[in-house]
Amino acid sequence: MSDTDATTETDHTLRTPIVAVLGHVDHGKTSLLDRIRGSAVTAGESGAITQHIGATAVPLSVISEIAGELVDPTDFDLPGLLFIDTPGHHSFSTLRSRGGALADIAILVVDVNDGFQPQTLEAIDILKRTQTPFIVAANKIDTVPGWNPNENMPVQATMDAQSERVTSDLNQKLYEIIGELSDNGFSADMYWRVQDFQANIGVVPVSAETGEGVPDLLTVMMGLSQRYMKEEMEIDTAGPGVGTVLEVKDTQGFGTTLDAIVYDGTIRADDTIVVGGLQGPIVTDVRALLRPRPLEEIRTEAQFEQVDEVTAADGVKIAAPDLDDAMAGAPIRVVRNREQSEVIAEVEEELAEIEVTTQEEGVVVKADTLGSLEAISSTLAEEEIPIMRAEVGAVAPRDVRVAETANEPTHRAILAFSVEVLDDARDLAEQEDVELFEDDVIYQLVERYDDHVTAIEEAQQEQILENITRPAKFRILQDHTFRQSDPAVVGVEILSGELRRNVNVVKWADGEPTRVGRLKTIQDEGEDVDSARTGERMAVSIDGPTVGRQIEEGDDLWVEIPEKHAKILEQELKEDISVDEREALSMYLEKHRNRDPFWGK
Ligand code: GDP
Repeated sequence: MSDTDATTETDHTLRTPIVAVLGHVDHGKTSLLDRIRGSAVTAGESGAITQHIGATAVPLSVISEIAGELVDPTDFDLPGLLFIDTPGHHSFSTLRSRGGALADIAILVVDVNDGFQPQTLEAIDILKRTQTPFIVAANKIDTVPGWNPNENMPVQATMDAQSERVTSDLNQKLYEIIGELSDNGFSADMYWRVQDFQANIGVVPVSAETGEGVPDLLTVMMGLSQRYMKEEMEIDTAGPGVGTVLEVKDTQGFGTTLDAIVYDGTIRADDTIVVGGLQGPIVTDVRALLRPRPLEEIRTEAQFEQVDEVTAADGVKIAAPDLDDAMAGAPIRVVRNREQSEVIAEVEEELAEIEVTTQEEGVVVKADTLGSLEAISSTLAEEEIPIMRAEVGAVAPRDVRVAETANEPTHRAILAFSVEVLDDARDLAEQEDVELFEDDVIYQLVERYDDHVTAIEEAQQEQILENITRPAKFRILQDHTFRQSDPAVVGVEILSGELRRNVNVVKWADGEPTRVGRLKTIQDEGEDVDSARTGERMAVSIDGPTVGRQIEEGDDLWVEIPEKHAKILEQELKEDISVDEREALSMYLEKHRNRDPFWGK
């Protein structure tokens, strides 16, 4: 084939829509995928359903077998559905493509008993942001008390076969879900009442356990794709392949390989490809395209078979040199018949689309994929938490070195999302006082960091409070002079606030404060104590005055508060001091402000 032939060769066809399954943990995502795969296999044509890398293709013939009378295969010309195998919005955001989500359509799984949960909301946010059409699978309908299971039956038929009470219980749960969708800005209804799936979200009651409703789910997905996405599914199978890296991993005998989903064109075993890497685009030649061997052929140790080409939409393992720096979530583009520089520029542009804003001061973020990095960064931006460095990959010692340069104590932190922390990095972090947060749920990761920030701020507050002179008013008791001077030792009663040692003491006379000396010790029945509270009587020693001259029995004395301290106490720490300290403070401020209204402001 000559070059001219190749460039003019086109072959337009409709590709399989890519389906992602999202939802809160334990709501049944994995079970539902397993059920769909299982139903497809038992639909008779094992062999027709194929396990791909990272995805399962369910062809139209199998869907129509499962859906029975719900589907007339002649209504459709899309070839079937390709389900991404790893459910959850984590993989969903990993699977980005130019300008948005790689999945064309999504199933949001909601447990009918549990309703909307944090990750349901997180998934909804992502679906909104990426403008991905979705339907809701209201799962676990078989758990409604009294439910009579009808394996794999379409949902309306099985609902008709239940008692009235059971149906009414289920309907109530379903309407709660519809209500929650509406609270989140989506008009929704039971799928059989939805005419326009673009304007309304269809809710499909299902059970991953019994397969009830699964025929409906597949029918709705198929109908939705056919009706609204047909144009987007048009591809040129002869065009250069375009895909997304799902995972970068070692494959025995092939070194570092990429698990990828191809969503446009064809990738061939002799192609040159450009892949997004940590240090920019990587240009490399494909060495082999691999697929899992069909089940019946797994006798030998070879788990994979080599294929000559893979056409969208499909999953494939790509073996090629120089892939160590490739990033999960990054684009892959085939160069074939084009200028290599042009393709590199396309990959660069796509990488630049991933918005992560870094600043000179902030936390370090590590994530397993570009998509998750982007998702965390946007959450942190909403919370106004600045990021100093954001990268894909394991937490390494050099990340700790970056984190420890942060000026703010709250920023000496690494937020690690679904990545490994290398042992020497962990040790170094501990040694250098850099906090490590690890989680694989974004909101939990951020929540834990937030708690840490709050703890630091409280500690700082306490530290400030420690170093600030606290207000107290006390009175010298009659007939309680134990020593007249050097130092004066007198019995006192605390009138307001908390009296501590090592403070200066003032006395007010004619509206003017005079410092009379320094309070050195407090004794309670001969024992030294650090402080005394309102109502307590203690003996105190005061350096400076003589009883009968600067101070007298019956005098009211005050702890002298520096103006700066008074200001901090009034403006920042009012909530952190006790009620009687607050009272002492306001009396003290009032005395000062009688002579200078701006004192301590
Ligand atoms: P995921 O975390 O969303 O992937 O949830 P799983 O698929 O792991 O399901 C969580 C639990 O719910 C498992 O114990 C499942 O067996 C159970 N489960 C899932 N779907 C159903 C269902 O339709 N009916 C019943 N009774 N249990 C279910």
